[in-house]
Amino acid sequence: MSSRHGKTRLYGIFGYPIDHSLSPLMHNTAFAHHGLDAVYLPFAVHPAHLETAVKSIAALQMGGVNVTIPHKQAVMAWMDALSPEARLIGAVNTIHLRDGRLHGHNTDGMGFLCALEEGGSDVAGRTVMLLGAGGAARAIAVQLCLSDIRRLYLANRTLARAEDLAAFLKQNIPHADISVVTLGASSLAAHLPDTDIVVNATSIGMHPHDPMLLPSHALGPRHLVCDIVYRPLQTPLLRAAQRQGARTVDGLGMLLHQGAKAFEIWTEHAFPIAFIRARLLEAVTEQPSASCPRRKE
Ligand code: NAP
Repeated sequence: MSSRHGKTRLYGIFGYPIDHSLSPLMHNTAFAHHGLDAVYLPFAVHPAHLETAVKSIAALQMGGVNVTIPHKQAVMAWMDALSPEARLIGAVNTIHLRDGRLHGHNTDGMGFLCALEEGGSDVAGRTVMLLGAGGAARAIAVQLCLSDIRRLYLANRTLARAEDLAAFLKQNIPHADISVVTLGASSLAAHLPDTDIVVNATSIGMHPHDPMLLPSHALGPRHLVCDIVYRPLQTPLLRAAQRQGARTVDGLGMLLHQGAKAFEIWTEHAFPIAFIRARLLEAVTEQPSASCPRRKE
């Protein structure tokens, strides 16, 4: 790290825990690439100290902050303004200090969409099967429904959570066509023939003995299968999809592009996508998934 002086701009990520975040690597590499005098640090912020931490963004004149689990919803209480996406998703992953005011954004959904487009799929007019109804799934579902998809099949282990998400989406994005589907092999298999894009937004796939949620025999060349889990990069779902002739998109693209959007909001500089992707790939390959602690569900 080069020497720092009074003009160095401080950025960071608030989470708890925060040990395995790849965001410092992404943003410090991008700052160096542009020759920006800025540094990005991980901050393990205990929930009891979150309000103090958020207020310190202005006190310390930080350029901006990313927010991750478990703070994405709670920080909304202290934002001076929210982007339309953050308001709809009900979570903030990027805070920008501008003219002394805290602006809350959510770049997860847009990051996902950019990753899919990079994988060769335009979502407009497509039918998407989304597994999961947690924070990441909610961001993805909102962005998909804002992007003129044809239909969304929503499946989740806890059915009531999928039903709540579907009801929220129908209320806020009235043109969205959404069906809640049971997360079971026969139900998913019945809906795969008219599905174009399958997205795993559950945490299943991170651990070697995780179950396969989808009946992989029902996948085929008509499908694009995207797994947002990025440790490991090649999840069992992606490997099964490839064996069935489906195209696949791994979770690194969403990570990369949500970071790119945050960087562009903060600095108005273009994120060096290809350069950072190469660094991320090295990092993900160096840190096998076995080193990730199992998250509490
Ligand atoms: P979350 O809010 O905790 O949601 C977890 C989801 O996984 C819920 O839908 C949950 O279902 C489901 N789930 C957990 N255990 C399950 C099981 N045994 N069987 C079936 N479903 C199960 O987490 P999140 O923030 O949405 O993150 C989900 C995953 O996405 C994580 O692996 C995270 O690392 C990854 N992610 C990747 C990116 C990226 O940039 N690539 C961004 C964000 C997140 P219930 O509702 O029934 O509990």
